[in-house]
Amino acid sequence: MTAPHPLILLIEDEAPMRRFLRVSLTAHDYQLVEAKTGKDGLAQAAARNPDLILLDLGLPDLDGFAVTEQLRGWAKLPIIVLSARGQEDDKVRALDAGADDYLTKPFGVGELFARLRVALRHAAATASGESTFSVDNLRVDLARRQVFANGAEVHLTPIEYKLLVTLIKHAGKVVTHRQLLREVWGPNSSDKTQYLRVYMAQLRHKLEQDPSRPVYLTTEPGVGYRLRA
Ligand code: CA
Repeated sequence: MTAPHPLILLIEDEAPMRRFLRVSLTAHDYQLVEAKTGKDGLAQAAARNPDLILLDLGLPDLDGFAVTEQLRGWAKLPIIVLSARGQEDDKVRALDAGADDYLTKPFGVGELFARLRVALRHAAATASGESTFSVDNLRVDLARRQVFANGAEVHLTPIEYKLLVTLIKHAGKVVTHRQLLREVWGPNSSDKTQYLRVYMAQLRHKLEQDPSRPVYLTTEPGVGYRLRA
């Protein structure tokens, strides 16, 4: 379980965005610490041990990518980056640097809290080492390596299973093409995006009721894939 009042560290230089998040988060029983620069953000992260970080990519000193890389040197906590609309390359770069998810500005409170819940729940599940994953009619027993969809056991090839498990590790969050290729096919596979398309299609064919309208394995255009949590 996550703490009853999760502590969020917000690293953001724009005052209106800080105000919006301060009002929204404190009204919903989250605790908040704020930093206006990357360096202060890193210092606060070390001093306060927050449950999650909301990180703007465009900061006056260190940018959000550098902050993410430095944090990942010692911290496992969820990082959600705040990025501008249309900057898909930035999102991919942040995720590859170790961020967990992103919110595209401007975003509403509904989307904000949905992302926070997923990230905090995921961190708690990882910490407790849960051995089954389930959502609707999809269930995966990670200890026995068995997959069930719509009440029947589904047989996956080793690569399909590895791809699914990689998505389960990041359930609810977007995983970039590069991350998936690296984790499933190894470090020298980042150019083999056609493999990913082929295996994702096979996985959808086996797990989705209507593979052309996937509900579990959704595409994040230009970025990667997301498994519903
Ligand atoms: Ca900014």
